Amino acid sequence: MTPTPPSTYTPTEDFVQNAHVDAAKYDVLYAASIEDPEGFWREQGKRVDWIKPFTQVKDVSYDFGNVGIKWYADGTLNVAANCVDRHLAKRGDQTAIIWEPDDPKDPAQHITYKDLHTSVCKMANVLETLGVSKGDRVVIYMPMIPEAAYAMLACARVGAIHSIVFAGFSPDALAARINGCDAKLVITADEAPRGGKKTPLKTNADAALSQCADAVQCLVVRRTGGDVPWNDARDRDYSKLSEGANLTHTPAEMNAEDPLFILYTSGSTGQPKGVVHTTGGYLVYASLTQEVTFDYHDGDVYWCTADVGWVTGHSYIVYGPLANGATTVMFEGVPTYPDASRFWQVCEKHKVNQFYTAPTAIRALMGQGNEFVEKCDLSSLRLLGTVGEPINPEAWTWYNDIVGGGRCPIVDTWWQTETGGHLMTPLPGAHATKPGSAMKPFFGIEPVVLDPASGDEITGNDVEGVLCIKDSWPGQMRTVWGDHDRFEKTYFSDYKGYYFTGDGCRRDADGDYWITGRVDDVINVSGHRMGTAEVESALVAHATVAEAAVVGYPHDIKGQGIYCYVTLMNGETPSEELRKELRTWVRSEIGPIASPDVIQWAPGLPKTRSGKIMRRILRKIAENDYGALGDTSTLADPSVVDDLIANRAET
Ligand code: ATP
Ligand code: MG
Repeated sequence: MTPTPPSTYTPTEDFVQNAHVDAAKYDVLYAASIEDPEGFWREQGKRVDWIKPFTQVKDVSYDFGNVGIKWYADGTLNVAANCVDRHLAKRGDQTAIIWEPDDPKDPAQHITYKDLHTSVCKMANVLETLGVSKGDRVVIYMPMIPEAAYAMLACARVGAIHSIVFAGFSPDALAARINGCDAKLVITADEAPRGGKKTPLKTNADAALSQCADAVQCLVVRRTGGDVPWNDARDRDYSKLSEGANLTHTPAEMNAEDPLFILYTSGSTGQPKGVVHTTGGYLVYASLTQEVTFDYHDGDVYWCTADVGWVTGHSYIVYGPLANGATTVMFEGVPTYPDASRFWQVCEKHKVNQFYTAPTAIRALMGQGNEFVEKCDLSSLRLLGTVGEPINPEAWTWYNDIVGGGRCPIVDTWWQTETGGHLMTPLPGAHATKPGSAMKPFFGIEPVVLDPASGDEITGNDVEGVLCIKDSWPGQMRTVWGDHDRFEKTYFSDYKGYYFTGDGCRRDADGDYWITGRVDDVINVSGHRMGTAEVESALVAHATVAEAAVVGYPHDIKGQGIYCYVTLMNGETPSEELRKELRTWVRSEIGPIASPDVIQWAPGLPKTRSGKIMRRILRKIAENDYGALGDTSTLADPSVVDDLIANRAET
């Protein structure tokens, strides 16, 4: 048996002393941000350099049928100038981006702010040569190489709207996104090395472009130098065009509410949504949250392991850190290549201070054993972060003890593509953390717990329900690209007057918040409502279980029964006995009401490309309804689904 971990973890005295925000400051600033949002965000608006300073701060309506969200609406600025040019005087020779390639034998690159400026200006000039200007859409389909960041910033510099498509997506998914925003240009690379394998990006882009208008051009960056098909009518070689490109460029003057990017959500719950973020408010929010949540200080080396294809990569690899003049690590590879110690080797090599990753990676690495972590020197680490899914207390504790050596606060950041930045997270110098809890709202965020049936606000503590947000914040999405009705219907129609997150949550007896998963993932067993995350956590806490996904299915007597998909640790064998043992284990961890009705052994679980479990597909399988699996285009490995269907357990 593992010993019961402490229920709260307090940051060290040293950490608190040096933190940007301690407990007293959090309380004061939070109260101020709620009582006087205009005043608070007026002040925070000064974090960025404006070409024409704003006079208006906030102009927001959450009225269904008339939803409109504007921040700093009369100000003008340029995001690339804020992320690059304004740092040149003070930190031109400081490293902006540390690039770590897929193969550890290849050299890392240290790109200074001066270098970054030159590269971004060059690419901005190339974009303009290709006819890209203010308001045009550019799709970026790139490996995790510095040119991906240059491309984002070059778009921002000329005022074009980028839409990044994760390099793991298929030609069809890419085509849908190119056509969805009428892109003028696709920026890609010849090939994307990842985990020792190469994805033929240019070939994929060609397949996608065959489904798009002839006028769409394709700009190709050389990564591997491998041979690629070439079509002179459409394709442009970046290495040639950039050779003679001008090394300076005047950034476009953008309105605060001009779109900066479009980005599709993961598709965990249905058809992905083309989320639109704008310029001024987004940058203020990304920059503030990056500094405060991660307690970033000048000179720190900060690493977010996400891909720029996800919002986490937008806000916390590129825009937030660079707006703050930080040193940000960009990693091309995967956590398990060449072996399961890669993350930790990179931390050691670049002396990383803040490390930010996803529960799916933590669980996978935890399953590989501690020796991969313990052989690396992780003494530079000061803070750990997690994002993307609820983190099981078991994984949290492993992260804390083994990776963080018990001395690094963990920030469990809850947010969404839609929110642009963190909405709930402990602040590392202010809050004692609880494994699995997102703890506290960020400045300016007023979470409310609603009764799912009546829509009434549930006040007081030790309560559970649907999570909504009362008012707007600058980083909030403004619309769904080309479909404002869908925006209003998805987020503002079920609970009038609030932003509906789609997630459930619990506010515990101390007033701290726990995300219980998606509202759709709450099951009702004999009248008891429970989040599936709770049952999953109990299963993962068993020594033989690597990963688990739990869904409800129709049950004659209980209303809903509990169906569990369980992936065992490497080397464990499924057996009837183990099944019994797991049932008993969950009963003892949570109570008889949570006892699994069905346990299906799952060699793998269906996941999105960003590593989230797609429970809606598992629900269909449990319900014996495979006809309508819905949109599966964002699945990482569709063959997993066939296996699960073939081995479905009787209900
Ligand atoms: P779609 O909206 O298309 O179904 P998605 O919700 O997975 O996809 P994202 O915006 O990538 O798209 O993910 C946001 C969601 O991820 C949140 O709504 C929440 O369910 C989950 N999430 C993110 N961070 C956390 C966290 N720290 N704890 C718990 N859940 C989290
Ligand atoms: Mg979502």
